[in-house]
Amino acid sequence: MAFDFIEQQLKVRYQDGLYRKCTVADGQQGRYLIADNKTYLNFSSNDYLGLASDPALIKAWQKGAELFGVGSGGSFLVTGYNQAHAELTAQLKEWLGVEALALFSSGYSANQAVIKLLLNKHDLLIQDKLNHASLMEAGTLADCKMLRFRHNDTAHLTSLLNNHKEAEGNKLIISEGVFSMDGDTAPVQSLYQQAQENNAWLMIDDAHGLGVSGRNGQGSIVEAGLKNSDVQIYMATFGKALGVGGAFVAGSQSFIDYLTNFSKPYIYTTGLPPAMAYTITQATKMTESEQWRRDKLHSLIKTFRESAADKCIELGESQTAVQPVIIGDSRRTLNLAEKLKKLGFWTTAIRPPTVPVNSARLRITLTTNHEIEDLKMLIDAISRIINEQ
Ligand SMILES: *Cc1c(COP(=O)(O)O)cnc(C)c1O
Repeated sequence: MAFDFIEQQLKVRYQDGLYRKCTVADGQQGRYLIADNKTYLNFSSNDYLGLASDPALIKAWQKGAELFGVGSGGSFLVTGYNQAHAELTAQLKEWLGVEALALFSSGYSANQAVIKLLLNKHDLLIQDKLNHASLMEAGTLADCKMLRFRHNDTAHLTSLLNNHKEAEGNKLIISEGVFSMDGDTAPVQSLYQQAQENNAWLMIDDAHGLGVSGRNGQGSIVEAGLKNSDVQIYMATFGKALGVGGAFVAGSQSFIDYLTNFSKPYIYTTGLPPAMAYTITQATKMTESEQWRRDKLHSLIKTFRESAADKCIELGESQTAVQPVIIGDSRRTLNLAEKLKKLGFWTTAIRPPTVPVNSARLRITLTTNHEIEDLKMLIDAISRIINEQ
């Protein structure tokens, strides 16, 4: 039978307890998640600054729709690039201190675009082992050689680079700024130096750092004491801390001009709706200026880690909004998430292949929408369940 792997592989997934389906959430994203007519405390959202359902942004989207309609009507290079996109671009350039940037409808396509655009047969792509699937997949499909260095291990990166000192092609090193499943941060300074010494380009995917880390939320590179323009490619998304959706790739004017002219994922797709670009501009302004959101989030992170330590709950090495509770075994992790759900806490069990074997975890995310009592209740519940298991 044609394509009979479909049924077979679904069956295996199901038997392994790895079958997935979408949850239908009701209403707005926020402190609570409503699903199946039940209300849960939401510890699974990437809406770190609590902007996704902010009344000012809901208004902005409505106003944007009145001003610009709901759709862009075309790809950016045809008629889809509106004043709203130009304003967003200008706003981001100023906030982040980058020379030029290109907007994308998703971070996934932005990452595919960059890798496809830059890397050819004799080139070398070196990625942190825990980089996001969008980067890994693009690297696997590209025509270049791809190597992976052990997570945040710059000594391993050095040895890979030394082994390829004579390589004739271009070299691109890619790391996330804040790692999506572990919440730890990349050694940006050291990556920067290695790239410099080896005549390589460095790309930072800061999907989880933008808005949360660095002065005025300027991200992980600024947090590390460098400028966003110090790396050749700075990429981040609007769907996490900024609360909306979409992404950008920033770099030199000539790199962005080249991307605009030669990248198929940029050229052959309908432009981000201008009302959405208008909303993202407002979200950018709020992210930059409303420091209280970051202050509150960082104080929640501190409380969460202290409460976990009090109850001897093992967390990952993270000072960011992503706080993994490491369990190890996949079934135990799933079991913990299910019990928490019964108690009214929405958390996500992350299992292989998303994370390495034997490192299944609850990925807890904290947001500005939480209150201290929410965290304490969650920690108490986790502690009780783990001690019963
Ligand atoms: C979420 C994410 C992406 C993809 O961005 P989308 O806009 O959601 O497609 C890329 N990289 C990292 C590290 C991410 O966490």
